[in-house]
Amino acid sequence: MDFNLPEELRMLKDNLRRFVDTELIPIERETMEGNEIKPDIRVMLEDKAKALGLWMFDVPEEFGGLGLGALAKAVMWQEMSRTIALPSRGASLFGPRVSPILYYLNDEQKERYLYPTIRGEKTNCFAQTEPEAGGDPGGMHTTAVRDGDHYVINGHKRFITGAKDADFMQVVTATDREKGSRGGLTLFLVDKDTPGVTLLRQQEMMIGDRPWEILFEDVRVPVANRVGEEGDGMRAAQSWLTEGRLRHGARGIGVIERCLELATSYAKQRSTFGAKLAERQTVQNMLVDMYENMHMLRLMVHETAWRVDQGEDVRAASYMCKYFGDEKSFHAADRCMQIHGGMGLTTDLPIERFWRDQRSFIITEGPTEILKMALARLVLREYGD
Ligand SMILES: Cc1cc2nc3c(=O)[nH]c(=O)nc-3n(C[C@H](O)[C@H](O)[C@H](O)COP(=O)(O)OP(=O)(O)OC[C@H]3O[C@@H](n4cnc5c(N)ncnc54)[C@H](O)[C@@H]3O)c2cc1C
Repeated sequence: MDFNLPEELRMLKDNLRRFVDTELIPIERETMEGNEIKPDIRVMLEDKAKALGLWMFDVPEEFGGLGLGALAKAVMWQEMSRTIALPSRGASLFGPRVSPILYYLNDEQKERYLYPTIRGEKTNCFAQTEPEAGGDPGGMHTTAVRDGDHYVINGHKRFITGAKDADFMQVVTATDREKGSRGGLTLFLVDKDTPGVTLLRQQEMMIGDRPWEILFEDVRVPVANRVGEEGDGMRAAQSWLTEGRLRHGARGIGVIERCLELATSYAKQRSTFGAKLAERQTVQNMLVDMYENMHMLRLMVHETAWRVDQGEDVRAASYMCKYFGDEKSFHAADRCMQIHGGMGLTTDLPIERFWRDQRSFIITEGPTEILKMALARLVLREYGD
């Protein structure tokens, strides 16, 4: 068994690390406006990312990207998460953000939605959460009712990231509310300018994101915009969710590593009561906890990603990557903040941003408790009499 990254991937990782250290970290407090990279900074950084050969690393080769596998993508995500220069959700610096769902569209849908997304002509958002149904999408109230060669969508979505700028939305609806998540949900591609779609309001948050509430009133969507068969909605969304969970885990590695770098440097130079913080065992324990968690998370995420590349089903392992990564990286940001004392709370340092962002991830895209509930089903099936 070889735990080393393949040579080519190590080079890619080093390349990105240099980019993050030299181009992003020095300006990380100035790159963003809300949760968007400022347009002039985006153009400048995108040019550099292209020159370094990092452009569209997560787009499959057949669609013009680098076509990196899951392990390579995980390594890229972990490296780019060592800085707060980039948005924690939403648009990427390294090419268009292509939802994995779009690769599963039929040929005609790909022409209308996938290729324009890859060319940067269209952007999209994913709309599943509702006021009455978040972690449990099976309870959703938004319905899609067949009417000839159309479906009519009625409902209310909330917390939808990127809805304002999106040209189209991936909307999860209930086509059979009785069946719920077990074959009752269907995914549609809905052009945002379709009559009956209203952006109600943007939600203020403790983080940079400002997700939207959206109303759907008698929105007529052609059957040709249905993704897969009726009732396939959760299956379609699963590809997006599994990759998203791995991404959370990988992000956690990068965040913990940066917190470890910051906390260790500070503990080595700051003295109280005649000794460096780094000499206090209480502080050492905090650093060691971070180090241990980073190690466990890296093994977990890299192994899971490697299994994806072998074509294995990693759904259960991806639950662990998500909640373990989010929880432990939040803990690392919290301890890093504690070691820095008052300085940890300032916006001079990136710690408070890591702290807020990582806290939010423990809730979004599946709260820890719900993922553990899903994992418990597997544990109970596999172990005991
Ligand atoms: C900044 C931000 C961006 C977002 N972007 C999007 C987006 O783009 N698209 C989208 O569709 N959604 C998005 N969301 C929604 C997000 O994914 C949901 O908030 C999340 O899934 C949780 O749903 P909920 O808020 O309704 O909480 P609920 O499902 O109501 O759960 C509330 C709490 O109850 C507990 N809980 C729930 N079920 C159980 C259980 N079975 N056992 C034990 N405890 C339980 C958990 O602690 C959970 O945090 C976003 C949210 C935020 C805050």
